[in-house]
Amino acid sequence: MISEQQKSILKEIDGGKLSNWMDWKWQVRHSVRDLETFERLLDIKVPDTIREQYKQITSKFPMSITPYYLSLINTDNLENDPIFKQSFPVIDELKVLKTDMSDPLSEDRDSPVPGITHRYPDRVLFLVSNTCAMYCRHCTRKRRVGDQDSIPGKAQILKGIEYIKKTPRIRDVLLSGGDPFLLSTKYLDWIMTELRKIDHVEIIRIGTRTPVVLPYRITDELINMLKKHQPVWINSHFNHPREITNSSRTALKKLADAGFPLGNQSVLLAGVNDCPRIMKSLVHKLAFNRVRPYYLYQCDLSEGLSHFRTPIGKGIEILESLIGHTSGFCVPTYVIDAPGGGGKIPVMPNYLISWSTNKVILRNYEGVISSYKEPDSYEPYFCDRNCAECDLELQLEDAQEYKAVGIEKLLADYDKAISLVPANNPRYKRRNNDDKKKK
Ligand SMILES: *Cc1c(COP(=O)(O)O)cnc(C)c1O
Repeated sequence: MISEQQKSILKEIDGGKLSNWMDWKWQVRHSVRDLETFERLLDIKVPDTIREQYKQITSKFPMSITPYYLSLINTDNLENDPIFKQSFPVIDELKVLKTDMSDPLSEDRDSPVPGITHRYPDRVLFLVSNTCAMYCRHCTRKRRVGDQDSIPGKAQILKGIEYIKKTPRIRDVLLSGGDPFLLSTKYLDWIMTELRKIDHVEIIRIGTRTPVVLPYRITDELINMLKKHQPVWINSHFNHPREITNSSRTALKKLADAGFPLGNQSVLLAGVNDCPRIMKSLVHKLAFNRVRPYYLYQCDLSEGLSHFRTPIGKGIEILESLIGHTSGFCVPTYVIDAPGGGGKIPVMPNYLISWSTNKVILRNYEGVISSYKEPDSYEPYFCDRNCAECDLELQLEDAQEYKAVGIEKLLADYDKAISLVPANNPRYKRRNNDDKKKK
């Protein structure tokens, strides 16, 4: 079933063969990459000011929109349309603030081999594709969009796999890009088969926006291929309830029925979804389609995104409107991906109001303030990580090495550290020098 707008776009492109519309390769081939086609397919004329700026913007950040995603644009209210805003270039993208960065997350610097970002101890981000069906205007990897040089070839992928193979800590591999589902099923099958040969890789994750912008990509052939490589977790990227259509519902149903746990990562975007009611409607629709809202991202400091950024307070306000007010699994974790490679930092409203030696004061979503009396008799026990001697029955594999990191280290009994000090702290440097002199 396709809409009137879709029929008219289809007719404009190739005379209206319905079977083509549902063919994902046809959709990719006919992605809209120039202003004239954009106007012709939607039967509109954009204002002259936009026409003048279009070339300038797209020479830096190109445009590509699938006919399907284009068909969701509401041409009666172009300026405020969330689909239009996520897909059509605007002059603000050329505004580069002093605080903007081309690679704010330092993904390139935390990269042991090209295509891999290894930031967290037990998992890696593996960029296996550099193409997307639609170029999101808010892409955090905007620096790479349309960049032909960074297409990962087979040799590069093999180097990534080699790195994962020789790094036993890695138990979770996150395939991203670009969009891994833009690769051919056969090629993706090859990558996943190679990963599955590695014993320590427990789960494979795929980040894809195809359920949103190219739902026809979720074919039976793709599903059958993915099923060979379970456990596979799939994360999509819906930002607005309008993106949940019959076609995307069908794609999500296929994935859920096949047994893949589904998550969603939204980006908080000014003028698109910076509204508690919109976000509530989105998370409800996602849950109804068996997609668990996973992360809500604060918009990164990448160049060209300044017009999409909201204050962090907007995200907190949205969480305040969700936590307690709706099902717990409808509430995403709100994260700020810290510039400089600090990684994802979760933030949320404060629920812990005060504390004494035996009572904690909490407030709930309604503003009701309660006290929780802590146990009088809890015996703290000294953990020396000798699990064999402990009453709690954790059966550890023989002598699993473990080193606490960060704040966890300060809390641990078995670690002697009592403070974390920034590198090059001048006072500590002075101390070290004095100590040396004494020796
Ligand atoms: C987001 C991200 C991951 C995955 O983080 P989770 O919190 O496990 O979803 C891994 N590596 C990098 C570099 C990331 O940005």
